[in-house]
Parts: sequence; structure tokens; C-alpha cells
Amino acid sequence: MNTLFLDHNATTPVDKLVLEAMLPYFTQHYGNAASRTHSFGWLAEQAVEIARQQCASIINAEPQEIFFTSGSTEGINTCIKGVYENYLNKGNHIVTVCTEHKAVLDTCKYLESKGAKITYLPVYENGLINLSDLDNAITEQTILVSVMMANNETGVIQDIRKISEVVHQKQSILFSDTTQAIGKIPVDVESLGIDLLCMSAHKIYGPKGAGAIFVRRKNPRVKLAPLIHGGGHEKNIRSGTLNVPGIVGLGKACDLAKNDLVRYQHHTKLLRDKLENLLLNKVPVSINGYKTTRLPNTSNIFIQGFDTTMFLKNHSNIAISLGSACNSASGEPSHVLMGMGLGASHANNSLRISLGKNTSETDIEHFVSILTA
Ligand code: PLP
Repeated sequence: MNTLFLDHNATTPVDKLVLEAMLPYFTQHYGNAASRTHSFGWLAEQAVEIARQQCASIINAEPQEIFFTSGSTEGINTCIKGVYENYLNKGNHIVTVCTEHKAVLDTCKYLESKGAKITYLPVYENGLINLSDLDNAITEQTILVSVMMANNETGVIQDIRKISEVVHQKQSILFSDTTQAIGKIPVDVESLGIDLLCMSAHKIYGPKGAGAIFVRRKNPRVKLAPLIHGGGHEKNIRSGTLNVPGIVGLGKACDLAKNDLVRYQHHTKLLRDKLENLLLNKVPVSINGYKTTRLPNTSNIFIQGFDTTMFLKNHSNIAISLGSACNSASGEPSHVLMGMGLGASHANNSLRISLGKNTSETDIEHFVSILTA
């Protein structure tokens, strides 16, 4: 059966160069990066420090500002719960957005059960927040604002630079879930004014189970209480023996993504536009979310009269999705599209197509011919 993978916002294959970089750290250089008394440990530690530099470089941070995690879900939990616990004396209010990833929304819901006050900002139909809503929501009790840079379902990109200005004017801290943005668009923590962010290797052709957070050093307000205790690894922010092969893979994936960014953007945007134009000529299709500031690889479409559930059932060899991979088991309409006011039937009949660096023109033509058959 011919397979077609157009679900790169869910995950990506490991790049051959990434795998090559990782392999020696399973069987040859298998030292524990915390072992300081022999060369096995030193070699592992050196590899981890190179990866730290590579992760810092893709977001214009300093290596000392990078802390390794198991991925973005852990990164999000570490940042949000870490700030909450550290700033309990200052306040208990967090501002976020109704269209964030479930890792953010469920963490906020958990904290609500512990006494936190959470404001969920609405979005316009195009997926963007209103900056005045944000400004009005921040109070003296606000310890954190959490706004994702690029949405995993629609690809819509929030204006993080303007958002950080509002947040900092009010003396608060900005966490941005940049899981989908890194490797697809430039993410510069300096020019954007981000205080905390998370990244995940498997979204950028690295391995699953490896990620990192950025914690701004120059802003003394940005302090985290650790989520995981035991051993004091990663300067006490995240204890636990480091996943050296995974970290090496994350670093290499960042390095490749940084060097390939311009080509990647050009390639995916060209194919995404081709896909949408071909569809527009054949079926009554509309694009969900702000068309102009979107990830270049992402298309979230609604086709009038199209039964997406039936299509997915009949074409399990084609990897596309109804919403996020994490939501696909629940069968609920996408909270992102619902948050944009699109309604349950519109949400249930929308498809997310996310292209990758190896997607070809033939893939797009093949997909369109099947979808419109
Ligand atoms: N945040 C966003 C925007 C995502 O797309 C994902 C993955 O689907 C996550 C967080 C969770 O990342 P991970 O799979 O590394 O836990």
C-alpha cells in the first residue's frame, strides 16, 4: 500500500545525519554525563555541552540558558509549574490563550485545582489574540503569561514581539511554547523578548523523548522551582541522568534546522501554496486561520460537504489529521477551531495537512487527486 506522510506537525522522521550523530552514544561513548572521574563521563559531558550550544544557537540564546528535558510537554510543565511555585508569594494569576496546546491548558487546569487563577484569552476568527485583551488581563497578581508562538493545528503565528512588550511593561514574565515554530520560522529570544520557551527534538527531525527549555538569565525575575528532584542535574532545574544520545540528536537537529531554514521555508511554502491553489480550483475550500502569518508548512482547511471522518477511515495510508495528534483519540472537535468560533461541524470537517522538508510536488498532486476523486 502506498503511504503518504503529510502530518509533520505531529512528528517527523529522524534525519540520517541526526541518527549518525546519536549512534556512538548508545554503544561506544555510553558514559554518564554526570560521571566526573573518568573519560567515559567526560566524553558524554562534552557531547552534551556541544548540544547545549547548538540548541542555544538556533534561538540566539546563551548555552547556560538551555536545560534539557524529555520534550515539550515536560518543558511546558517545568516552566508553568516552576514559575507558579516560585512566585506563590507574589501572586497566583496566569494568563494564557484558549487555543494553546493541551500541554499548556491541562497544566493550567491542574494549577487551577491547586488555587491558581487562570485567564484564558479569546482569539479572533483568524486565531490571533487582541493585545488590548492581554493588557487588560494582566494584574499585579500576574506571575506568568503563556502564549504559543505558532499554533500546531492552524500554523497561525502570534506577534510575540508585541506581546512581550505588553507583558514586560506590566513587570510579568513571558513563556512561549515554540515547539512548532523552531525550525520552521526564525525564533530569536533577544529580538522577541521571550523569557522562557520550550523545544522538542521530534518536531525537527530529531528523536522522540528529547527536548529543552530556555530560561533567560539576564532577567533576574525568571526563576523556576524544579519539578523533578534528585541529584541536582541541570543546575537543579531538572534532575535525572541525562539522555545523552537524545540530547546529541536534539543538538544536531537544531544545527541542521538552523542551516536549512531558508530552504525549508521556501520549499514548504511553495508546496503548501500549490496544494491550496489546486484544491481551490476543484472544491469549495476555505482556509482556517490567518492566511498571511502562518507556518509555511501548515494548511488547515475546511471543504464544504466533505466527510473528513469517512475520508480518514478509508485512507489510513495517508497521514493527515483532524486536529492535534494528542487530541485525535478523544474524538472531540478541535478546541483550537472551536476557540476561533468556527463551530463543531466546521471543526469536525476540517483537515490539518502539514508538509515536511522531504515532501515532493508529486506527493501534493497525488494527495489532491485522492482528496478530490
Ligand atoms: N506544544 C506544541 C505546540 C506541540 O505541537 C506539541 C506536540 O504535539 C507539544 C507541545 C508537546 O510536545 P512533546 O511531544 O515533545 O511532548
